Amino acid sequence: MPAKKKSLEDKLIYKKETAWKGLSKTNDKKVHDFAEKYKDFMNKGKTERLFLAETVKLAEKKGFKPIDKLKSYKPGTKVYSVNREKAICMAVLGKDSPVNGVNIVASHIDSPRLDLKQNPLYEDKETETALLRTHYYGGIKKYHWVTVPLSIHGVVMLGNGKKIEIAIGENEDDPVITIPDLLPHLSQAQAKRRVPDAIKAEELNVLIASRPLEDKDSKHKVKLWVMKYLNEKYGMVEEDFLAAELEIVPAGKARDVGLDRSMVGCYGQDDRISAYTSLMALCDMKTPKRTSMLVFFDKEEVGSESNTSVQSMFLMDFIGDLVALKEKNAGDRSVRKALSRSKALSSDVNAAVNPNFKSVHEMQNASKLGHGIVVTKFTGHRGKAGANDAHAEYVNQVRQVFNKAKIPWQIGELGKVDLGGGGTVAKFMARLNMDVVDSGPALLGMHSPFEVASKIDLWYTYKGYLAFYEGME
Ligand code: MN
Ligand code: MN
Repeated sequence: MPAKKKSLEDKLIYKKETAWKGLSKTNDKKVHDFAEKYKDFMNKGKTERLFLAETVKLAEKKGFKPIDKLKSYKPGTKVYSVNREKAICMAVLGKDSPVNGVNIVASHIDSPRLDLKQNPLYEDKETETALLRTHYYGGIKKYHWVTVPLSIHGVVMLGNGKKIEIAIGENEDDPVITIPDLLPHLSQAQAKRRVPDAIKAEELNVLIASRPLEDKDSKHKVKLWVMKYLNEKYGMVEEDFLAAELEIVPAGKARDVGLDRSMVGCYGQDDRISAYTSLMALCDMKTPKRTSMLVFFDKEEVGSESNTSVQSMFLMDFIGDLVALKEKNAGDRSVRKALSRSKALSSDVNAAVNPNFKSVHEMQNASKLGHGIVVTKFTGHRGKAGANDAHAEYVNQVRQVFNKAKIPWQIGELGKVDLGGGGTVAKFMARLNMDVVDSGPALLGMHSPFEVASKIDLWYTYKGYLAFYEGME
């Protein structure tokens, strides 16, 4: 039978289709297997430090070497560099000199959470309970954080300079901690509060103990119980909190969501889903033409203002090191040339249309769960303010790379014009004069303790980054 002639509509009209369509049995299995490994990695990497430690472990296993140990340039060599346990650059050296530009996928590995205040521990006299005071980190809805099991992770620096790692609440037999909410019976006054104040920041105190220590000299017997425990287990005294970095995150593991198991639900997918997929893509690639690299940044959720954020010199220095490996006279000018010839994806999540709250989206330009990796040409708010509005020429290059590799992709916009907005690291990367556009999967419930992603988007984000590494020129 002769092939059916394409209709005029098929030829001319843009169609956005589900990425599940026509998935072969073999690929179906690959999609689910990939998600299993992803869930496992997410369970281990619940903070930026932990995610980074897992990344380095895997990098070493896959043959990546610290870049300062390298003496010469050989295509296919795998290198990495870590910044203060919170940011990392990893690269596979290409056949071309890095001075001709590199392909970069950049994401962030910090996620919204509750940080402990520097002097956090107190005993509530009337109730004889011990609590920890917190200061939230990033854009949370505070009412999400009450009545759920919480865990605590981070580092404590002892007075003698020793660094202690704390992790309580993730193992099945660990205790968890929690913030109790008010019962409905007594919530008449609370019910009159506006939603953002339903739970106030200073009410996010975490309950950690309720049993007094038998000590007749003490006026803070429950607090003393806690300090005695921390002292015996970690060698801590209360003053050690002052310099500590302790993060409260939702306790528990990533789960399949939906009877069809088509989705993954867990904490921290913004933006560790992009980080993980770019990591897998970089680990799986063959010797590229152009040097291909990833970078994980920290502090994106609080405006990228620290030496582990995108605004530090870390990325520039790493690209400088790449150039210096290959070029004898790698001066400032060659590093700048490398930067200006580089192509980047600012790989961050977009908001998938929530079926319960469709009105905040303009459907024709909104991203949908299960419809492939999202390309967000501009972010910002109110007239694209604060946006890195990527150029048509570059967006088209990305389009060609994805289409050639048959990656389902969709265009995305963060909500209706003038309803809100957001932004990520793209504008800071653009300052280095490289081409950059936002691209990553769409999530439901972004910035909540249980964010939801589609397994098919997870898979095609990985495939998309691989196609970008191999195909972007
Ligand atoms: Mn993000
Ligand atoms: Mn975010």
